[in-house]
Amino acid sequence: MRIERSDGVIKQAKMDMVGIRSMEFCRRWGIVRWVEEAGYNRDYPQDCAWVTCLNGYEFGREPFAAPSREQPPPQSPQKRERCPQNFFDPVLRRFAERSSHVRLQYDTELVDFVEQDSGVVAALRNTPDGSTSLVGADYLVGADGGASRVRQKLGIAMKGPPALTYTTNVIFRCENLESLHGKKPGYRFIFIGPEGTWATLVAINGRDQWRFSLVGDDNKRTLTEDELRRAIVRAVGREFDFEILSVLPWVRRQLVAEHYGSSRVFIAGDAAHLTSPTGGFGMNTGLQDAVNLSWKLEAVINGWGGPKMLPSYEIEQRPVGIRNVAEATDNLKRMLSPRITSPGAAVFEPGPKGDAARIEFGNRYTEMMRREWYSIGIHLGYVYEGSPLIVPDGTPRREDTVSTYVQTARPGSRAPHVWLADGRSTLDYFGSGFVLLRFGISPPAARAVEGAAESRRVPLKVIDVVHAEAEKAYERRLVLVRPDGQVAWRGDAEPADPLAVIDAVRGA
Ligand SMILES: Cc1cc2nc3c(=O)[nH]c(=O)nc-3n(C[C@H](O)[C@H](O)[C@H](O)COP(=O)(O)OP(=O)(O)OC[C@H]3O[C@@H](n4cnc5c(N)ncnc54)[C@H](O)[C@@H]3O)c2cc1C
Repeated sequence: MRIERSDGVIKQAKMDMVGIRSMEFCRRWGIVRWVEEAGYNRDYPQDCAWVTCLNGYEFGREPFAAPSREQPPPQSPQKRERCPQNFFDPVLRRFAERSSHVRLQYDTELVDFVEQDSGVVAALRNTPDGSTSLVGADYLVGADGGASRVRQKLGIAMKGPPALTYTTNVIFRCENLESLHGKKPGYRFIFIGPEGTWATLVAINGRDQWRFSLVGDDNKRTLTEDELRRAIVRAVGREFDFEILSVLPWVRRQLVAEHYGSSRVFIAGDAAHLTSPTGGFGMNTGLQDAVNLSWKLEAVINGWGGPKMLPSYEIEQRPVGIRNVAEATDNLKRMLSPRITSPGAAVFEPGPKGDAARIEFGNRYTEMMRREWYSIGIHLGYVYEGSPLIVPDGTPRREDTVSTYVQTARPGSRAPHVWLADGRSTLDYFGSGFVLLRFGISPPAARAVEGAAESRRVPLKVIDVVHAEAEKAYERRLVLVRPDGQVAWRGDAEPADPLAVIDAVRGA
């Protein structure tokens, strides 16, 4: 059962970029087309540009093709997508409704819960009429956002800087904003004035809706509609007609929960980690939480998951949260750096001296910002180091990189993508139960591992792969991949103690 306090209508889309790993999950769930067709204008370019205003000077730009033309990188069968929350949420809802295991209940608030040895009892309130009810469950997961009641009730503290900026988002509608200025269209504009970086503008549907963010600083301010309107006019650089659809003041934080749950109650998503949106990691990290936790809950409910299974959720995903929110804050610092190191007055002056200063500053800023735009390593390169569910093979950990990503089947890593002869990806094997890949024309035996899995009721499929490139990418002839697509164990022959391996990966 999944409850949601609101009626489910997203009034102010926060996230808009579904990252590459999230799209791999969508591929696993068979909903890539739904995401692509959700409503974003797929022909709208995704350039990022830094300007004084839309009718002013452009310092630089990072060009990106429109979603319809962007290609997946060699490491993945998918690519990131533009699908803001007001489009993506209905996609996930439709997906959840397809499952006979899920009951969605909107207008229902979690008021309280009691955790017992045998389960959890939750007190719910129907928000329209105030009626209350009790529901019993084996487990409770609080994906209830930054102010998580579940987290508070568990007494879990958040660690990190609580207020990086007080920002105000305004979604406004304007038909053909592009006709009001001479700049090439862009998905994201960053506005830099004499005071430094002060605002951003994002094409929220690639058509007529825009999200303006007045970035602010660590001082709380309440802005009037008139002030916001004047700020939007300043960013565009001329008076124009627009309709404000919604205003959202919010606090940019860098916080990670000290724990991700207790025995039967867990937190996920923004309830567990709050990040600056710079980089687009928030929801994408939250989806990883969900994917990591869900197969473990299934394993324990179905009786084959051992006592280390659920505690491994925090061991595996919390370091990912810490890494991702730190990277996002560094992205923010880079974006706001013109506040600290002024680009100099000359960049705002007309004439050749100004042109030269703009080129010099623009090139520097463009180069510095690349780390935010190219972050495949953050999305795909997370490794579950030190997890009790991962059997190390003694090979050293690869360097954790941001803008590059070298695939590896080292235990704890995301199992590599390789296109197979039938047009499928190796990733298409994963998602339901464990998969033991056997490589080569005469692959090593796998009977003992199969037998061990069977004896512990661990769902396991053995798949033979005769494909030179895949064999090279996986680096060993036997590779055991978990239901979430991470490598659990690998070797060139069956392990000496197959039961010990199966017990480790099932958290016994
Ligand atoms: C400007 C901006 C841009 C962003 N861009 C991106 C991006 O491009 N990519 C990305 O990955 N992330 C992005 N993010 C972050 C992303 O929006 C969040 O990480 C994501 O929305 C978190 O999802 P969540 O479900 O964990 O929490 P929320 O979105 O906060 O949802 C929590 C839900 O729980 C419900 N709820 C709360 N309490 C209760 C209760 N007691 N009972 C019942 N229901 C309850 C709420 O009504 C809400 O619907 C952005 C954020 C901002 C602010």
